[in-house]
Amino acid sequence: MNVVEACRTLAREGLVKGSQGNASERIGAVMLIKPSGASCAQTKFACSVLLQDGDVREKCTPSTDAPAHRALYNAIPEIKGVVHTHSPYATAWASAGWAIPCVTTGQSDAFGGDIPISGFCEIGGEEIGREIVRMWEHDQRRTAFLIRGHGVFTIGRTLDAAVKSAVMVEHCAHVTWLAQQMRGLYRLAQVEIDANYKRYHENYGQHGTSE
Ligand SMILES: [Zn+2]
Repeated sequence: MNVVEACRTLAREGLVKGSQGNASERIGAVMLIKPSGASCAQTKFACSVLLQDGDVREKCTPSTDAPAHRALYNAIPEIKGVVHTHSPYATAWASAGWAIPCVTTGQSDAFGGDIPISGFCEIGGEEIGREIVRMWEHDQRRTAFLIRGHGVFTIGRTLDAAVKSAVMVEHCAHVTWLAQQMRGLYRLAQVEIDANYKRYHENYGQHGTSE
């Protein structure tokens, strides 16, 4: 999918409201990203931004989060897609100041552990990107990150993968919250989490596609 299709998917899945959230894709030396202020559900085009210096290639004001996306692409060469949402359950965990503990096999499969949470980050600069890189360097399997008091960022080797992670992290946040209402949370042992992650990424689906 392209950036416009990704933004519409985020809206359709209920992960963003109004002009919240954004998606971007790396294509060579450029990233395409949702325009500033555009509704995810109705956006019609993407802005083109040079990764090296952040120059905008045509008359278009990119998303206010463009510096964070750009910092991620420049720091992590293998990623091609970045997604940002304010999906409600994940944002609730981020606002409460908690990482999402890994209590399900589904979260083990998709993320290989807890969904980490950043410190508070100023919006509009590279700080969000730098915080995500710090968390990713701690465990390079991580593809979803909570930004304290703000929302969620996901990264992927493709834009499709980043969108899939954004959908999945909201599902994990919701299920974990429900479990917490019942009797508290039982975090899976890391050895169980690692085994699930390995099975999912090496043996599940068609030819290792994890589909
Ligand atoms: Zn945001």
